[in-house]
Amino acid sequence: MKTLEKARCPDCDAELEVPEDAMQGEILTCPGCGLELEVKQVKGGSVELQELGIEGEDWGE
Ligand SMILES: [Zn+2]
Repeated sequence: MKTLEKARCPDCDAELEVPEDAMQGEILTCPGCGLELEVKQVKGGSVELQELGIEGEDWGE
């Protein structure tokens, strides 16, 4: 078993378990609030997440 990385949801601060082999650009769903988070960077046991959909509010039409 591989160790899981730990990351926190930027919105509700819930702890997410990120697979060690998580790839940049992978989408994770927060177990706390259901927010979709994109893996921006993985290095040295630290995972950087970014909330999806915060760049430009494109509601489509
Ligand atoms: Zn959350």
